Amino acid sequence: MTGRGELLAWFAGRRRAYPWRGTGDPYRVLVSEVMLQQTQAARVAPAYRSFVRRFPTIRSLARAPRSDVVRAWGTLGYNRRAVALSEAARVIVRDHRGRVPAEPETLARLPGVGPYTAAAVASLGHRVPVAAIDTNVRRVVGRARLGRDDAPPTDVEAAAMAWLDRADPASWSQALMDLGREVCRPVPRCGACPLAAACRFRAEGATPQRGSRRQGRFEGSFRQLRGAVIRELRGTEATTLRTLATRLGRGLDEVTAAVARLSAEGLVRAGPAALAGRPGGRVRLAP
Ligand code: SF4
Repeated sequence: MTGRGELLAWFAGRRRAYPWRGTGDPYRVLVSEVMLQQTQAARVAPAYRSFVRRFPTIRSLARAPRSDVVRAWGTLGYNRRAVALSEAARVIVRDHRGRVPAEPETLARLPGVGPYTAAAVASLGHRVPVAAIDTNVRRVVGRARLGRDDAPPTDVEAAAMAWLDRADPASWSQALMDLGREVCRPVPRCGACPLAAACRFRAEGATPQRGSRRQGRFEGSFRQLRGAVIRELRGTEATTLRTLATRLGRGLDEVTAAVARLSAEGLVRAGPAALAGRPGGRVRLAP
């Protein structure tokens, strides 16, 4: 018993749970998957809607100045993703005639696209029978098929490929993602799980491992400061370090360090004076 039928029946009622579902458009899958890399689905949904309204095609995204793309990224944070997505769109238009590649190996060479995102775009956007394994899917496959939380990645990958529904890899991948996101969470809700009867983890009475990796404190952090700098710059053509420091209530040294990092990441354009920490140094979003 594999639980495939039960999982797909559970997923049938959720096919339209998110706005990026059911479009069959690899470009929109790419946008949604990049947004979902570090942000929860509920927060991604409104940002995704407005982003694809603003850039409905890969060509419109590739043509847009980078500063417009960062502005359209809204409040999702981790703005480097917006820069990478803009760059990926330009590469796709330049090297692939505007067609999002279907091969995971080709996708994984695009800026900002790692092995998981590549597999997700191939599977959801092009229906390539490949397992897309993120943290959530890894947890579901490890538990349901291997009975453990600490299975080696190669074992999880082999189990995921063997379990894959090759007739409809897109639905299968999304069903696993949803299950891991909402039911088979770090503390699993086995009573609500369609895989309960087929799950080895549950049958063997295994105990969930406590995650050891904790997200660093966000309030007051360097990451928060970088996000705040980007928000300030979205509302203006250009400004000075002094203004940024005043508006953000942070020290000039901290703001200089944040601007230097954002500049190295290609998110902002900062002149030599700003990079040297001079209060009048000017900063703006990278074009
Ligand atoms: S039965 Fe429990 S452990 Fe197994 S897949 Fe479902 S939620 Fe996860």
